[in-house]
Amino acid sequence: MSQHEDCIFCKIANHVIESNYVYEDDLVAAFRDMSPLAPTHVLVVPKDHYEHIADAVPAETIAAMVHAVDEVAKAEGIDHSGFRVVANAGDDAGQAVHHLHFHVLGGHRLGDDFA
Ligand code: 5GP
Ligand code: ZN
Repeated sequence: MSQHEDCIFCKIANHVIESNYVYEDDLVAAFRDMSPLAPTHVLVVPKDHYEHIADAVPAETIAAMVHAVDEVAKAEGIDHSGFRVVANAGDDAGQAVHHLHFHVLGGHRLGDDFA
């Protein structure tokens, strides 16, 4: 496992700091965003640290993240109504936390913007 000492998502994904978890397995954790933009707003993050989606993320980790999205959608009851997955990378995307994460948004009709 490779974590960064001062990274909040490394801490949450590895239970150094506890959060509101929706799903977890060996490679990823999913927990509720602290500032939700939709009725369901869950963050899916790998337990190892990667800066963003283009940081040489192993295929196994990407697959685990996609599996977690599926599990979250089912657990939240939005698998049939629909949902959005967003991965911000870098400054122009407004990435605020520099640890790879998927936003899973749903539970109401999403706008043309982020949520
Ligand atoms: P970004 O802009 O990097 O794609 O999104 C970062 C997201 O992480 C934001 O939606 C923000 O509300 C959320 N966030 C930041 N710090 C924490 C935290 O400590 N706990 C939780 N649950 N969410 C956080
Ligand atoms: Zn991290």
